[in-house]
Amino acid sequence: MKNRSPEESIILALTSAATLCLMPFLAWRLLEQDWLIASLNLFAVLSAMIVFAHVYITGQVIYARWGFAILCAVELILTIVLKGPSQIGWIYPVIIALFMLLTPSVALMISMTMSSIIAGVLWSQLSSLAYYQLLFSILATALFIYIFTEQMFKQHRVLKQLSIKDPLTGVGNRRALEDKLLELMSYKRAYRDNTSTLILIDLDQFKDINDQHGHNIGDQILITFASLVNQKLRNKECLYRLGGEEFVITAADKNRDKASILAEEIRELIDMFLFTNGIHVTISIGIAESQANETSQEWLGRADAAMYKAKGAGRNLCCVAA
Ligand code: GH3
Ligand code: MG
Ligand code: MG
Repeated sequence: MKNRSPEESIILALTSAATLCLMPFLAWRLLEQDWLIASLNLFAVLSAMIVFAHVYITGQVIYARWGFAILCAVELILTIVLKGPSQIGWIYPVIIALFMLLTPSVALMISMTMSSIIAGVLWSQLSSLAYYQLLFSILATALFIYIFTEQMFKQHRVLKQLSIKDPLTGVGNRRALEDKLLELMSYKRAYRDNTSTLILIDLDQFKDINDQHGHNIGDQILITFASLVNQKLRNKECLYRLGGEEFVITAADKNRDKASILAEEIRELIDMFLFTNGIHVTISIGIAESQANETSQEWLGRADAAMYKAKGAGRNLCCVAA
């Protein structure tokens, strides 16, 4: 079974449910020979099936999300215009569907616009009490779902940040690096002339520093190191902690020569800097420019091999991969 994203699964479930819910009513209207509403139901069923097929086959959700959300809202308005207040019960599942498909603020905006149009249509068709009860129940439904989904979105953003951040230094972690490498590789595939470079940094003799000064001081050094390097980086350069005392800079749109200049500046900066308790730290650096037709792991592997060459040549050096 194909591994589908949550967005894909939601659209597939919604469109299937909409088709199943509408089918019996389509049959009913056809039996009653109510051709106008039957055509509307048929249109809704067919569009839900088309959206389902599109997402099922392509896995693309952007147009499908918007298309299906607008379709639900328009269908509902037309049904109420044609059949009056008896159809108003459908507004609740439609509002829920809007919040499942779109971001909370956009879903709220569309829900309010749709409700205002429906309120205008029903104005003269209900008693004042029934009319206002209906309006307030719709408003309450939309607001409750908005508050709930907004909280879920906030939590999702926090969890997402936690899952891609290194807790000690605050820079991106290995998972974030892997995502970035995939992004750079696909960019390289699309634009073959594009070149990006990896700068892999390993702190020299870090075990000895830990042994001499303690693990806490070692941690402080890692934090300061990440902050110093981050200050040197520009827009398209990002720092990640690969693990332990190894870091990687992704220099998008930089070739090996430009990246080597940056790497050498960082090596010098760290060599000149005195960390907490006056500790002197050096780093060894491997530099690897992206190549067409290699995987992200091969790219990282070449940077790692270059870094080990720098270690072998005496440490506190930059080495460029072949
Ligand atoms: P080399 O120059 O060959 O890289 O020597 P090294 O001592 O830096 O390399 P080695 O791989 O032998 O040791 C890495 C050390 O990094 C071992 C471990 O104690 C330390 N280290 C890894 N992660 C952390 C961390 O989060 N905090 C601290 N304080 N130390 C760490
Ligand atoms: Mg290491
Ligand atoms: Mg080391």
